[in-house]
Amino acid sequence: MSYIKIDKDKCKSCYLCMETCPKNLIKKSNIIGKTGEYVVEFQDNNNQCLGCTQCAIVCPEIAITEVYR
Ligand code: SF4
Ligand code: SF4
Repeated sequence: MSYIKIDKDKCKSCYLCMETCPKNLIKKSNIIGKTGEYVVEFQDNNNQCLGCTQCAIVCPEIAITEVYR
């Protein structure tokens, strides 16, 4: 099983990953990014991430990477 890591410095706040995650584990953070919008963060307190990498695949900035447990 794997999960994901988001590089906030690369995020351009398009929110495609948020819309894509089947478990709704990616949320807006309270950090403003380079586009002037909130960057996203991974919130998975109950280890629900499927490791499906759909979020990483849709990210145009390659800001999301898979991490192996
Ligand atoms: S890997 Fe899948 S389940 Fe995990 S955060 Fe990305 S889209 Fe959601
Ligand atoms: S898809 Fe990538 S650039 Fe868009 S909000 Fe998600 S992490 Fe940021």
